[in-house]
Amino acid sequence: KKTITRLPEWLKTPIPVNSNYKKIKQDLRGLNLHTVCEEAKCPNISDCWGGSNKSAATATIMLMGDTCTRGCRFCSVKTSKAPPPLDPHEPENTAEALKRWGLGYVVLTSVDRDDLADGGARHFAETIMKIKQKAPQMLVEALTGDYAGDMEMVKLVALSGLDVYAHNIETVEALTPSVRDRRAKFRQSLDVLKMAKETRPELVTKTSIMLGLGETEEQLWHALKELRKNNVDVVTFGQYMRPTKRHMAVHEYVTPDVFELWRQRALDMGFLYCASGPLVRSSYKAGEAFIENVLK
Ligand code: SF4
Ligand code: SF4
Repeated sequence: KKTITRLPEWLKTPIPVNSNYKKIKQDLRGLNLHTVCEEAKCPNISDCWGGSNKSAATATIMLMGDTCTRGCRFCSVKTSKAPPPLDPHEPENTAEALKRWGLGYVVLTSVDRDDLADGGARHFAETIMKIKQKAPQMLVEALTGDYAGDMEMVKLVALSGLDVYAHNIETVEALTPSVRDRRAKFRQSLDVLKMAKETRPELVTKTSIMLGLGETEEQLWHALKELRKNNVDVVTFGQYMRPTKRHMAVHEYVTPDVFELWRQRALDMGFLYCASGPLVRSSYKAGEAFIENVLK
């Protein structure tokens, strides 16, 4: 099997820092909010936090702790069968802190909590409702797990007042068993996205695919067609980056040209918008994209 270790030039670009970024970072101090952007040292932080205006700035917050019950082979989050209990004050505190921070767009994500009867769906939905009560102008995207296929939980989150329902299929159908945790299924993930849309047709649904795992063009076409069949509105493509040597190897560093090609193909297929690039993550400049493509 092919293993690549050297990084190509396009992944080595320095991270620019601009003034809006510094302002948002300062505002964050004392709010006791932990952003994925900072904790994962995301290379896009300046793009996401530092856009031309704060009302389009995007940040990603992780809910329900730092320990996941699943173990996907690409992911560096800690794993345990029995993570610590949820913090019952988290919905209220998160909403209060976000209101004070005053960003335009927040992506809420979480670890998977298969140990909880509802997978944490009620906690997630409550957080969204509280944010919308305290900061009604804030746009909210929820990036959820699959709730082990429990569609009632998907409905519950879809009805909580959010603007964008995101759930990542991560890879093509053929590679799903070797990339994602065994409890994650390609079809089940499509069903999550389909149910979110059926529950509230005005919701924007969104998913993300990592490239560079060994997927073929044909498999990727297939995945995109399945997404469109299920009325998924938005897709993003990014390069898989191996977090540590214990994680699955990178099969290929996809060139920026090929990312651009897939972006065009996605738009031609009828996706509302598509972010695609080596450093793109599913939340990449999500606020700006939403404002430009949905609100206009
Ligand atoms: Fe944060 Fe996501 Fe943007 Fe990275 S891509 S800075 S995690 S919002
Ligand atoms: Fe990581 Fe999500 Fe998989 Fe958990 S379910 S291991 S957080 S990718």
